[in-house]
Amino acid sequence: MNWNALYDRLREQAPSLELRREEPMSRHTSFQVGGPAPIMALPKNEEEVQQVLSVAVLEFGVKPFFMGRGTNLLVSDQGADLLAVKAYDGLNRLELLPEGEWPGRRTIAAGSGVSLARLSKFALEQGLAGLEFAQGIPGSVGGGVYMNAGAYGGELGQVISSVSSVSCPSEEFVREYVNPQFSYRHSQFQEQDDFILRACFSLEPGDPAEIKAKMEDFAQRRREKQPLEYPSAGSTFKRPAPVDGRPVYAAALIDQCGLKGLTVGGAQVSEKHAGFIVNRGRATCKDIIELMAQVRDRVFKETGITLEPEVRYLGMEGEGWNF
Ligand SMILES: Cc1cc2nc3c(=O)[nH]c(=O)nc-3n(C[C@H](O)[C@H](O)[C@H](O)COP(=O)(O)OP(=O)(O)OC[C@H]3O[C@@H](n4cnc5c(N)ncnc54)[C@H](O)[C@@H]3O)c2cc1C
Repeated sequence: MNWNALYDRLREQAPSLELRREEPMSRHTSFQVGGPAPIMALPKNEEEVQQVLSVAVLEFGVKPFFMGRGTNLLVSDQGADLLAVKAYDGLNRLELLPEGEWPGRRTIAAGSGVSLARLSKFALEQGLAGLEFAQGIPGSVGGGVYMNAGAYGGELGQVISSVSSVSCPSEEFVREYVNPQFSYRHSQFQEQDDFILRACFSLEPGDPAEIKAKMEDFAQRRREKQPLEYPSAGSTFKRPAPVDGRPVYAAALIDQCGLKGLTVGGAQVSEKHAGFIVNRGRATCKDIIELMAQVRDRVFKETGITLEPEVRYLGMEGEGWNF
């Protein structure tokens, strides 16, 4: 791939678009690992997203990788040979829409770059309930929709009424999906090559004091239970399927196998929360992947349950990481 030619063409097509060359992905992932991406684009608005996609996809045949805050990403130490398109400080519109067809409910529209923390705080300010669980999830609306992020019994899919995205590759631009499909840590966007532009959240009015108290309770529980002092990507593995109708939790299985504190290089199974792998300093992606493989193998050997990663990988193709 001629990245210089693509870079020059993007510059020409979208002069005000923020573009970076050989950008270390470690700066954009909460694990703080990952080598460079040849080009990173940081669009500020929908027009710039469309400019990036039309040049990359239609002229160069390059499928970009879309990302938010990188809080669920593991990127190879060698980097990833791709055009990363990051929705972050741009695409950060947040608004309360006028009352609509659903009496008693209100809709908040949020751009994909809005953080889930800001979104849930905004809902609180409007006296709207239903997003309290999202406050401590460090991702963006785009990544949250894609992953159907959730915590403490709530999931974004429960309150999303529509999602607008740009399908890729396509000359037809923004499409709106009303009532998109969600399941546990899964959205229909995982099967589409779309860039998520914004989402609408349908919420019920609530008592602001109760909403605030719930948010504080969740935040307190996170501080007590999660190793927030170290870089990580949150839960490393998904919750496995129930066994004999009973829920099974990855963290409990890992703990039960005595794996808290297991270390490979700078990566460690958190001593505070077995569901987290943390970067204790200078961890490489290779350390993290090797540790994940050891955890998965030990848990399978001792319990017969296969753990599936929740984190998404980038740049592992051809490196023999057969996770
Ligand atoms: C300390 C900590 C705690 C966490 N707690 C939770 C938790 O309680 N619950 C939970 O569900 N998760 C949790 N996470 C994981 C993570 O925050 C969520 O998965 C979050 O939704 C990821 O959002 P992001 O913006 O960082 O996405 P990224 O990590 O940047 O991307 C994740 C995926 O979404 C896709 N994506 C991102 N933006 C877009 C877009 N605009 N268009 C199309 N695709 C896009 C990417 O391609 C990628 O496949 C935690 C992580 C950390 C570090």
